[in-house]
Parts: sequence; structure tokens; C-alpha cells
Amino acid sequence: MNNSKASEPHGIVFDIQRASLHDGPGLRTTVFLKGCPLRCAWCHNPESQRRAPEVGLSGKVYGRSMTVEEVMETVRSDRSFYETSGGGLTISGGEPTVQYAFCQALLFAAKLEGIHTCLDTCGQVSTERLRELLPLVDLFHFDLKYWEPEGHRRWTGVDGALILRNLEMLVEAGARIHLRCPIVPGVNDSEAHAAFLAEWERRPEIELLERLPYHSIGNAKYEDLAMPVPAFEI
Ligand code: SF4
Repeated sequence: MNNSKASEPHGIVFDIQRASLHDGPGLRTTVFLKGCPLRCAWCHNPESQRRAPEVGLSGKVYGRSMTVEEVMETVRSDRSFYETSGGGLTISGGEPTVQYAFCQALLFAAKLEGIHTCLDTCGQVSTERLRELLPLVDLFHFDLKYWEPEGHRRWTGVDGALILRNLEMLVEAGARIHLRCPIVPGVNDSEAHAAFLAEWERRPEIELLERLPYHSIGNAKYEDLAMPVPAFEI
């Protein structure tokens, strides 16, 4: 490895999905970074939670170290799709800001090349850091998971206060925001949570609020990583 490559920020990437239709406008290249401060009971990407690369019982490797330039090679090669569909780069996770320097450098590289950027965030990040990313992010996908602090802590590990402060900060800053709201049977399919979401949906600063159905496609990955499988009936 030459010195310039060694000094570039490296990220731990567990997947890159190309031509994705569900991660923002148009066709997207979605880069999934490892590491998350939350532990949502319904998480369907358990391989995203720990920051370090992991090896499953099957021998499958979850996460590899990549430079910004290595990721950008893939992103760049999809450029013609972005131009015809209005798509771009989405950075997801985990929580991408756990790998803050890498996430920032990747957003910067994409913006430098005129590529539309979307950041998928759970919102559990320092407000100052999130504010620093504002000029680099064209669209925020922001999760809302539970309507009150006690339940939020029970189901995700944190009380949600920082998440709501960050959402208000983005609103005040005039960011473009789509709210993404998993609806999990027995967890947040209540009238109280529905009312909380409806209140956010009515706010004119929120461009879109999506209610996402729970699915159990991550269960095999829990087993491979020797983690307890979430016990939800659907
Ligand atoms: S925020 Fe997302 S990645 Fe993190 S634990 Fe929750 S569902 Fe999983």
C-alpha cells in the first residue's frame, strides 16, 4: 500500500447495493457502514450493529475495510443511472455517523463530483457533528421509532431525547427530510404512536413520512452471528 492510500480515511463497509429503488429518489448506490449506537429489538441488520468486521458461524465475513476512493469507484460507475433516474449515493448502516470521518469524506467526495447524496440516520449522533454534515447532504432519511422516552429506551436502548433534538435542529436548518418509521407489531402499533407520527406528518417542513412494515428477513443473520433472534409475531 502506498503512503497516500494508507493516510486516506478507511471505513468498515458491510454491503454496497447498486440500483436500489428504496433508498431515496431515483436509482441509488447504497453503502452500508458498520456500527450503531442503538439496539432496536426488531433490527433486521444485526451485522450492522458492531463496528468491527465479524465472521459468522457459517464463515461468512461481515464487513471489510475500504477507502473512500474504493467506494467511489463503484459509485462513479453507476453515474449514468443517476443521470437518467435522478438518483445518487445513499449512506446507510448501522448508523453511518458512527464512522464519522469516513462518512464525511465519502459525502464530500460525492458532492465534489456533483452526485446527489442521501444520509440514512437513526438520529443518535452529536448535534454538532450532524450540523457539520448539513452542507454535504441533499436529503436526510431520519428514523422515528417510538413516541415516548421509557418505551424508546426499552426497545432501542436509548430514550430518544437526542434524536428528537437533532430532528428539530434539521428542521430549523431547513434540511430536506423524509421520516422513516418502522411499525412493529406489539411494540409501536399503538394509537399513541400513531398520533405522534401523525403530528410529525402534519408539519410542513417534513417532505414525506413513510410507515415501514416489520419483516423478519434478518433472522438467519442473527443465527449466523450467534445473537438471540427477535421474538415478534407478525
Ligand atoms: S438503528 Fe437501525 S441498524 Fe441500528 S439497531 Fe436500530 S434498526 Fe438496527
